[in-house]
Amino acid sequence: MNAATTGGDLDLRVAVIGGGLAGLAAATVLAERGAEVVLLEREPVLGGRLAAWPTKLATGETVRMERGFHAFFRHYANVRALLRRVDPELRRLVPLEDYPLLGPDGARESFSGLPTTTPWNVAEIVRRSPHFRLKDLARVDVGQALAMLTFDREATYARFDRATAKDYLDSLRFPEEARRMLFDVFAHSFFNPEEEMSAAELLMMFHFYFTGNPEGLVFDVLDDSFSTSFLDPLAAYLGGLGAEVRTGTAAARVTREGGELHVHLAREGRPLVVDALVLALPVPALKALHAASPALADPAFDLRVGRLDVTRPFAVWRLWLDRPLDPGREPFVGTTGLGRLDNVSLYHLFEAESRAWAARHGGSVVELHAYGVVGEPSDDALRAELLAGLHAIYPEARGAGVLDERWLVRRDCPAFAPGSDALRPTVATPWPDVALAGDLVRLPFPSALMERAVASGFLAANQLLALRGRAGEAVPTVPTRGLLAPARYWPPTRWVRSA
Ligand SMILES: Cc1cc2nc3c(=O)[nH]c(=O)nc-3n(C[C@H](O)[C@H](O)[C@H](O)COP(=O)(O)OP(=O)(O)OC[C@H]3O[C@@H](n4cnc5c(N)ncnc54)[C@H](O)[C@@H]3O)c2cc1C
Repeated sequence: MNAATTGGDLDLRVAVIGGGLAGLAAATVLAERGAEVVLLEREPVLGGRLAAWPTKLATGETVRMERGFHAFFRHYANVRALLRRVDPELRRLVPLEDYPLLGPDGARESFSGLPTTTPWNVAEIVRRSPHFRLKDLARVDVGQALAMLTFDREATYARFDRATAKDYLDSLRFPEEARRMLFDVFAHSFFNPEEEMSAAELLMMFHFYFTGNPEGLVFDVLDDSFSTSFLDPLAAYLGGLGAEVRTGTAAARVTREGGELHVHLAREGRPLVVDALVLALPVPALKALHAASPALADPAFDLRVGRLDVTRPFAVWRLWLDRPLDPGREPFVGTTGLGRLDNVSLYHLFEAESRAWAARHGGSVVELHAYGVVGEPSDDALRAELLAGLHAIYPEARGAGVLDERWLVRRDCPAFAPGSDALRPTVATPWPDVALAGDLVRLPFPSALMERAVASGFLAANQLLALRGRAGEAVPTVPTRGLLAPARYWPPTRWVRSA
């Protein structure tokens, strides 16, 4: 390897391309087991969609801006395992006890205090929801609704992957208001508009986040910026293991010379020479690297990568306001029926840096998100819509002055279109020495977003470690099947994949 690297004892040189959570997870497991690891990240900072970077505010302070609020759900066992590398007691996670959903005219649903077992959690949501009446229940298509309790990786995708999430939700015949409050926000949280999302993927999400999740739909947040609480310590941990972390370094092309893989860098003449590769890239970058790389050409793999796509853009707007909001406002709320506004986070209520800023200025730090934005609105139109939503739920924000703001619109989250499951790429590729990771990959068990990124990163590392006969990382999951999945699948199991 022509980069100064590790003192690994495994005789396995690996380039991990992409320094988001998936790449970081893979690099961690590989370096811990003695592989020589070089982690290549195109941007100046690690983290990908979880990245945080310094930015100077008009009020004089340098703070960290991020790609947006992230919820660390309690059942994210693999994310927690990664975080434990640098925070063994998980002290940096702050519990948020409720995850309310707010709608127009004071409409509200809450997911706190629910029983932790299915079907009692589902029954309690229906019982206490003001949006369900007994006569409404009689109209619900019970057969369709049961699909939420009978998740099975093969059967659910075979039956529902070609349908859209919208068609599935419509078919339930829930009262309109209940559908909006209970399901629309949920469906939107995966960045895919329900008209363009696979119903099977949505059912997997129900299972993963709710009916198959004994921890309940509540989550924690990091106590400070992602870089302070997680990414900087993890980079230091990797450095301590001898891994080389190269930010600001993009991979441009991969070739195979004899038994070795050559990773050609965008701005350097000499390639990195390695035994194995982890590709932990977002959809556009994976497609670009694949198209430029003779070593990654294979008809079946070409088809799978070619089918990947990004979903609609998302927008993140962080506002540093000159006044506090009313006491008792929640740190995070999902919203529905308020235009394209999907959620509101009050950073000064949980993030140390924002709390200090708010205390200094007598203000507040508010972040507004819109996911799966359809209709290509102009930035001004979208901002007006988000602000109107904020004012509808928190009227005291109306007269607030904006001391500074950051506005991001990006389009790099994976699409989960109807019919996309069968050809979605997996961690394994046609080559045993090349593994894929990221929240875009097809996993054999329920998982999503950050947890999917980390679980796939661990699995990618395990695949490469197996080349040298070395055991990998255990990868726990929620129960893989729904409570009422057909009897032949009984009982639901918690998989642990150690390699
Ligand atoms: C606004 C927002 C809110 C979210 N909220 C949540 C949440 O609450 N809970 C949750 O679980 N998930 C959430 N997510 C999703 C979560 O961020 C992602 O699932 C996860 O971070 C994906 O990680 P990844 O490693 O797969 O991909 P990425 O984070 O995209 O990492 C890929 C990396 O590859 C790098 N790269 C690209 N090209 C090259 C190249 N040629 N060479 C080298 N490096 C390259 C990129 O710069 C990037 O760092 C949210 C996402 C967004 C955008």
